[in-house]
Amino acid sequence: MTQTYPAAGAFWTPFSSGVTPAEEKDLSYQTLKFYTQWRGSPRHDVGVVWRTVEQYWVQGQFQRPAWSAFAEINYQPLPHGDDFIENKTTGLSYRCECCYQAPVIQVARFRAWYLALLQQRPQVELITAWPYPFLNVASHETAAAGTATAGAATAGTATAGAATAGAAAAATACEQAWVDLLRQHDISQLVLCTGTGTHYFRLYDQDKLEQTKIQFRKGVVARVAAQPGPEERVLVYEGGPFATNSLYVVPQDDGYVVGGTVHPTEFDYAARDWEVLPAERAGILERAATYLPEPCQSKLAAAGFWEHRADVAIDWRVGVRPYLEGLGPRVVPAESIAARLEKRLARKLSVYVHFGHGGSGFTFCQDTAAHVAQALGLS
Ligand SMILES: Cc1cc2nc3c(=O)[nH]c(=O)nc-3n(C[C@H](O)[C@H](O)[C@H](O)COP(=O)(O)OP(=O)(O)OC[C@H]3O[C@@H](n4cnc5c(N)ncnc54)[C@H](O)[C@@H]3O)c2cc1C
Repeated sequence: MTQTYPAAGAFWTPFSSGVTPAEEKDLSYQTLKFYTQWRGSPRHDVGVVWRTVEQYWVQGQFQRPAWSAFAEINYQPLPHGDDFIENKTTGLSYRCECCYQAPVIQVARFRAWYLALLQQRPQVELITAWPYPFLNVASHETAAAGTATAGAATAGTATAGAATAGAAAAATACEQAWVDLLRQHDISQLVLCTGTGTHYFRLYDQDKLEQTKIQFRKGVVARVAAQPGPEERVLVYEGGPFATNSLYVVPQDDGYVVGGTVHPTEFDYAARDWEVLPAERAGILERAATYLPEPCQSKLAAAGFWEHRADVAIDWRVGVRPYLEGLGPRVVPAESIAARLEKRLARKLSVYVHFGHGGSGFTFCQDTAAHVAQALGLS
């Protein structure tokens, strides 16, 4: 699966967007306002539940964020030394720094509500089909095999040259699929919300998204089936080298999301970006065993989180976060893509790319969607 949103812990987390600190406060507040309007309203089930977030940081690194001033989240700094936790592997010490109220998005419910909302707008046509030629490893390999030596690609040992050729073949296949699809849709403006898949539209310099600012960061989570209680908290442990020291547990309506990792990736065509590697899985299990308090440990243990039990299938998922480092999410006109598509379709088409939510796509999507509407003259 090459979609990032099903892997998300999906709590309100403005820490991880790539946006500048100056913009972060404003963006955080706008999105918080959006989630606050439905708080506690049984008439509007938008799939958002408010929970307390308890945040632990590695000693000495914590800075109080600008958004902590918002009354909505009832931010409470906690005295140093409370709930001191030692990471036995790295020797780093974590302490609980703050707790606050924040929205947790129940992904499936929220997405269904949001898509239905969009469908009610007569000017908007949603294209959720998958003209996406690299759905799984098999098709990934087939695309590479088209131009590289079939043996090397199939064995997963393609050389850099073969990988580049594979990427080019994939980009061509991606574009062809979109041309076929657009022939069926009479639209004049196209917004690509394709996350890391945007890579295959050969966007970049010519479209004012500087290549150097585009970064992909892989994240791994386990979804553990259980029934969290209404009072259960989101627990977040951060600081130090993120890939090896961070952990979070997010109670969702159908279980817990236990994450996570942040590994920068090249998004190399041949890379194992969408696989859960044994070391990533082991790291999450180990950190969960080290940090998590009772009764969270027991609940996860009862669901078979640390065991290989035949009756329990822990659902491990991967996402690759699309960052625009130092910029944050943007909606930009993509003139080079438009020119290529217009030529092949023989009609006018404006194309925009809505990209760069990094690790905060659920947090910021409301506000960034408003920017899309504005760019399209729909607001
Ligand atoms: C482990 C992890 C935890 C996270 N936790 C949180 C969190 O707690 N809170 C938060 O706010 N955010 C979180 N995020 C970040 C959030 O998931 C992302 O910011 C968000 O998913 C990005 O949305 P997107 O629409 O840009 O990309 P995606 O979610 O990847 O969606 C892109 C869509 O486009 C489709 N697509 C791609 N290429 C093509 C193509 N060529 N043609 C057609 N369709 C295509 C894909 O199939 C997919 O459906 C987390 C991410 C990860 C990896």
